[in-house]
Amino acid sequence: MSRLDEITLNLRQVKERISIAANRADRSIDEITLVAVTKTFPLSDVEILRSLGIDNFGENRDSDAVTKASAVSGTWHFQGQIQSNKLKSITSWANVVHSLDDIKHFEIIERICQRRLEIFCQVSLDGVLGRGGVLVEELYPLAQKVEASPVHHLAGLMAVAPLGMDPSEAFQKLSVIHKGFVADFPGAGKLSAGMSNDFESAIAHGATHIRIGSSILGSRPANG
Ligand SMILES: *Cc1c(COP(=O)(O)O)cnc(C)c1O
Repeated sequence: MSRLDEITLNLRQVKERISIAANRADRSIDEITLVAVTKTFPLSDVEILRSLGIDNFGENRDSDAVTKASAVSGTWHFQGQIQSNKLKSITSWANVVHSLDDIKHFEIIERICQRRLEIFCQVSLDGVLGRGGVLVEELYPLAQKVEASPVHHLAGLMAVAPLGMDPSEAFQKLSVIHKGFVADFPGAGKLSAGMSNDFESAIAHGATHIRIGSSILGSRPANG
């Protein structure tokens, strides 16, 4: 089977799963943006996805993303852990940042990037720091800082189901946090949650952006 055939088939299956999950949650698929996570995969795969109508791409590492984003048009999402010294480059290609979890990073973004970015604040669902995300208590000041920006737009919240936590429990918790968040920030109703193994549950709990890699492109080498 050619790579094109393989990706076509996988994509069709993922879309079918999205549609079933949306149906079950009584939601329209139009509310759900599929971000194809192309990290570790070659540019040729991104081109195939583009030819199949995908126009949202997610990357974790700045160095891989620069080349792909300059070659393939679309909306580019950065979802990896942010390092301050990479922000200049990240903000040169990314349209959306899913993983803001440090007010200092946003201060740098404001200083160096005059192009409007969509920003999700990442929240930690188990309070284990170091894997990305702020504690719920820290969410408000971070989001307020982004919301006050005249240039950038606070899109909403992002989270990853913690290792060892049942995803439906994690996303149930997230949906409660998200409701409180939207009450404070009514313009920031987006919710980025769900990966290959748990996106159905994320959709059931209100995800508007699901970030899917391996179900579409196959398995990655370890720590990819
Ligand atoms: C790698 C990654 C994904 C995609 O994971 P898959 O399991 O391959 O679908 C989504 N979100 C984040 C933050 C990631 O690092």
